[in-house]
Amino acid sequence: MDFSESPEHRIFRESVREFCKRHVEPIWIDVDERGVIPTDLIERMAQAGIYGLTISEEYGGQGGTFTEAAIAGEELAYHGPALSIAVLFLIQASWPYVLQLYGTEEAKAEVLPEIAKGRAAMGISSTEAHGGSDVSDVRLRAVREGDEWVISGEKTMTSLPTVIESLRWGGGWFTIARTGDPALKHRTITDFFVPMKRNGVRDPTVSYRPWTEIARRGLDTSVITFNGTRVKDHYRIGEVNGGFKIAMEGFNLARSMIGAVTIGCARWLLDQGLEWIRKREVFGRPIASYQSISFRFAELAKELEAARLLCYKAAWVADRYYFHKDPNFTLSDVALYGAMAKLKCAPLAVEIGMEVTKWFGGAAYFKELPIMRAWLGAFSYVVGAEGTENIMKLIVARTLIGRDLV
Ligand SMILES: Cc1cc2nc3c(=O)[nH]c(=O)nc-3n(C[C@H](O)[C@H](O)[C@H](O)COP(=O)(O)OP(=O)(O)OC[C@H]3O[C@@H](n4cnc5c(N)ncnc54)[C@H](O)[C@@H]3O)c2cc1C
Repeated sequence: MDFSESPEHRIFRESVREFCKRHVEPIWIDVDERGVIPTDLIERMAQAGIYGLTISEEYGGQGGTFTEAAIAGEELAYHGPALSIAVLFLIQASWPYVLQLYGTEEAKAEVLPEIAKGRAAMGISSTEAHGGSDVSDVRLRAVREGDEWVISGEKTMTSLPTVIESLRWGGGWFTIARTGDPALKHRTITDFFVPMKRNGVRDPTVSYRPWTEIARRGLDTSVITFNGTRVKDHYRIGEVNGGFKIAMEGFNLARSMIGAVTIGCARWLLDQGLEWIRKREVFGRPIASYQSISFRFAELAKELEAARLLCYKAAWVADRYYFHKDPNFTLSDVALYGAMAKLKCAPLAVEIGMEVTKWFGGAAYFKELPIMRAWLGAFSYVVGAEGTENIMKLIVARTLIGRDLV
């Protein structure tokens, strides 16, 4: 057992950190305030080999591992703790990878190099207004007409429309649709890549209405309407009616990096807190000298260390399964550790954020201090983004206790 980072990982972390200090740290508050991720930042991330990290070299990517993605995600979050930029990164490290695994050669050759160049983005469009947890209940219809599919219906809370619209090539979503009798639940679900732009222009059958986000506002989570949107059959991802399992694989992969992203945010918050409690004097002493504060700091530092180990284990398990083809690891392990990491790390970032907010006193309530802005981004992963806490518990319980009982 070796807990130290390999020399390659150390060098990689250092290079991402340098990138973040130059390009992310100076703008993260502005990104959150204006709700816009600049396209030139995305292009710079691609030039630095960070964006679309796990896309293979064959399609112009870096062929990076999930551990490397976790390292980059942690650093991006540490230097931009409101999380818009880090979450954009992690979405591009997960859903394009699923396209790479199950998409047609034509779609991969068209879409993946554009993402790798930072000229496109790919999001996930799953949740509908009647409820997002039960993915087997999606109602967005896809009907086949010759060589095309016609997609109609509405998705709610789909991130990235303005990012996609602002990018040169554009991009689209991994979209989960119904292609048969709804009573057959997960057995009549098919996945598609649905582009938002064609030849550089927005498809008029795709429209969106943004929600007013409280945090991670650069991702512009919106209601998306597909009004008879036509996609070629080569944009289908996997078999007809075989989309449910593939979609679950995408969520599992994303969760295996969400731990690292929320840990980056938590680390930044605790560092801010540490610096503050050492220097803030009240009743003539630094507040760190009060045990109610120093003991709480100790507890949170201990939790952070434990959570960080779990988040890297989740990424490592995904690497064992996908890159090393290690027979000791299954898809179920990737799901289990991804769910555990999300369940542990996201609430911890919020807990640390709330505590640090209190250490800063009344000033933390105002936007002039960036503390609350930071942990409200992590809170999105507690309430629902990429699955609620109860759904993570369901995955863990079903895996360890057994589906027959849970
Ligand atoms: C900031 C943000 C960004 C998002 N971005 C995207 C995106 O890009 N694409 C996308 O598709 N979705 C996105 N989502 C939506 C997210 O995936 C959903 O919020 C999530 O899946 C839960 O769905 P829901 O909100 O409809 O809650 P519901 O499914 O209605 O659940 C309501 C409550 O019931 C609980 N519950 C449900 N089933 C069970 C059960 N079996 N046992 C116990 N409790 C249960 C849930 O835990 C929750 O507390 C985003 C959400 C947020 C907050």
